[in-house]
Amino acid sequence: MQTIKLQSGYKMPVLGLGTWQMKGNECKEAVKAALKLGYTHIDTAYVYENQKEIGQAIKESQVDRKKLFITSKVWTEELNCEDFLNQAEEILKELQLEYLDLLLIHWPNKYIPMEEPFKAFKTLVDQGKVKSIGVSNFTVNHLERAQEASELPVSVNQVEFHPYLNQEKLLQYCKSKNIVITAYCPLGRGDVIKNPVIKEIASKHNKTPAQVTLRWLLQKGIIAIPKSRTPERIKENKEVFDFKLTAEEMKKINALNKNFRNCNPGFAEFNE
Ligand code: NDP
Repeated sequence: MQTIKLQSGYKMPVLGLGTWQMKGNECKEAVKAALKLGYTHIDTAYVYENQKEIGQAIKESQVDRKKLFITSKVWTEELNCEDFLNQAEEILKELQLEYLDLLLIHWPNKYIPMEEPFKAFKTLVDQGKVKSIGVSNFTVNHLERAQEASELPVSVNQVEFHPYLNQEKLLQYCKSKNIVITAYCPLGRGDVIKNPVIKEIASKHNKTPAQVTLRWLLQKGIIAIPKSRTPERIKENKEVFDFKLTAEEMKKINALNKNFRNCNPGFAEFNE
């Protein structure tokens, strides 16, 4: 699996399995299928309520922990230093892991000083419980404040990113600060792959629209974490390293942007 070197110095696989809305046995089986197919990167969060099953899947798969890249997220209401540390401990316990490769602030919270979660991050990194730190759903303004508040490099910003939400300005800002973007909803929850332009490009390459969409992200230097419960699709989503989109095709997909968001935060804490 190709990787991107983070500011923390650690390498992150460019493709991972998303797990939101997968729970119980379905989640465990999907993660096991992904690990069997060679996925090494799994994305979860405390609020997904599936970390125990992911932990079990990792154990049962008997993969070398050192070869895996596990990301989790601390919920937005738990950003005070002590709360953050407590939730990080719970995350490790549920996953049955000694460390996380990447821990993210799930959403910003305007009522909690930005310094608070970053104090906790420093403790967790010093204790060896977290390798790299990052944020999710952060705008440029949030990122400016985060970098001021943090002693450690902010390695990743995980945001919604797909052809219908091509966040070019945020991407350029992140590139200028060496912050890697991870795209969530990389397939626009299945919507984007019905687009006729993407379908046409896919048929030219003898690939599927999902593979073209993921390839577009990778060629922009973005990490993608498509979610699927279906082994055939989990396999399909990984087969994106044997073809390349032309500059013209990249441009055509760039032009599909309509600033459409699947994830609209419904809570006031998010607002800047
Ligand atoms: P995705 O864009 O990954 O879409 C998932 C949907 O697409 C599912 O319905 C899945 O169906 C379908 N699908 C997957 N692969 C294919 C394929 N090859 N062909 C056709 N359909 C396909 O949306 P998500 O919202 O799940 O985002 C991905 C991950 O990002 C999440 O799982 C989560 O880990 C993370 N995330 C993070 C957020 C944050 O706030 N930080 C917010 C939202 C998501 P099926 O499963 O039935 O195969």
